[in-house]
Amino acid sequence: MKYISTRGNIEPIGFKEAVMMGLARDGGLLLPDTIPLISSQTIQQWQGLPFVDLSFEVISLFAPDIPAAALRGIVQRAYATFSHAEVTPLVQKGRVHILELFHGPTLAFKDVALQFLGNVFEYLLKESGRHLNILGATSGDTGSAAIYGVRGKERINIFILHPHKRVSRIQELQMTTVTDANVFNIAIRGTFDDGQAIVKTIFNDLDFKDKYGLGAINSINWARIVAQIVYYIYAALHFKGSKVDFAVPTGNFGDIFAGFMARRMLPAHIRHLVLATNENNLLSRFVTKGEYSLGQVVQTSSPSMDIQVASNFERFLYYLYDEQSGLTREAMERFAQSGRLDFTEDEQRKVRENFLTLTVNQQQTRETIADFYKETGYVLDPHTAVGVKAGLHFVDDAVPMVCLATAHPAKFGEAVLQAIGREPDLPPAVAGLEEKESRCQILDAEVAQIKAFIEENGLQ
Ligand SMILES: *Cc1c(COP(=O)(O)O)cnc(C)c1O
Repeated sequence: MKYISTRGNIEPIGFKEAVMMGLARDGGLLLPDTIPLISSQTIQQWQGLPFVDLSFEVISLFAPDIPAAALRGIVQRAYATFSHAEVTPLVQKGRVHILELFHGPTLAFKDVALQFLGNVFEYLLKESGRHLNILGATSGDTGSAAIYGVRGKERINIFILHPHKRVSRIQELQMTTVTDANVFNIAIRGTFDDGQAIVKTIFNDLDFKDKYGLGAINSINWARIVAQIVYYIYAALHFKGSKVDFAVPTGNFGDIFAGFMARRMLPAHIRHLVLATNENNLLSRFVTKGEYSLGQVVQTSSPSMDIQVASNFERFLYYLYDEQSGLTREAMERFAQSGRLDFTEDEQRKVRENFLTLTVNQQQTRETIADFYKETGYVLDPHTAVGVKAGLHFVDDAVPMVCLATAHPAKFGEAVLQAIGREPDLPPAVAGLEEKESRCQILDAEVAQIKAFIEENGLQ
């Protein structure tokens, strides 16, 4: 298996190179040149495998250039950090099944992908003798998952910028209490947008980027998608002899794109993919109206889905255009100029064959948390509640509905308190954070200061 770009202008490369490249050099996103179709014989062999073993089997198909023993070690190390023996357990609550993806070290589903990516990086850097300085800006959640993905790893330093005093206390502590020598938290005196702008400027300084081997850890890395395909297959195989539906709280389109890939691999096992959004519903509008157009970001109680440009959307577009990279490239150029794309009747029909969708506003989210708690005793975080609302809307008796639980409710205690009148119980991972030692550098939101800090502390 080789990897190609959605925009068609790179030579095919292997998995290892695809992971190190991140964004394709022609500006597109990387995809495998074929999607493996899983035979019924293989499905039988996979049935009942523990999560880690299934991860190994699935990822092997996409990473033939990593030797089996090494890949086994990578997935074992990645998921040893999860606090639940089943890694991503499935629990039935009321009319739906909840796939709990939040048992990783930062209590959000991003750990599933970033624990894997961190261990892949470590393996590849050891092999090549190179090093990596990861630089990123966060509004709260992705930063901690990225930090936990690479903490303590050799040949990797990580620099994460967050807006000083503008992330939640729990989010701040989840980052700054990681005091491994290779982790550098920087609180900038500014906003998240300032942080993003600084990171972008530094990445555009190609001399600086090359000198320090700067790398990103954002949601477009193929290794993140491949790790997420696994839990769809894990959940689908749980229901022997029946198809399943999935409801997915969606922001950047990474998670549900992994579901799209899983369905291509197991077409007889996965029926509907329900794309659930909050008020930032660009993707819902895409499915229902066949238009893809930028709006203003609205702040909601599910902040990790407060996104307008869905960075993984281009991957789906490539398949919508029947794998024609020329059409994908033209569309993305058009979108960059006009901020909008329109689709033909035929294309819209294809989109609707792939996704059902529902927009869930903040009031409905709060009501869903309250009602679900009343009916089942189970506490949903606001992101998960968006998905559960959509799942309940589309569930029928023919097929089980699996709702992806993307964060632990304790991460969004305020929203939960408003819905059910009490704070969720704190799991051990966050209960003791206030007492822990913490480390963070406060700097001005200025490129020169951040660069100087990296020069001082970066690997060379
Ligand atoms: C990132 C995130 C999402 C959205 O996932 P995408 O892959 O961006 O669609 C949903 N819920 C939580 C808690 C998240 O952190």
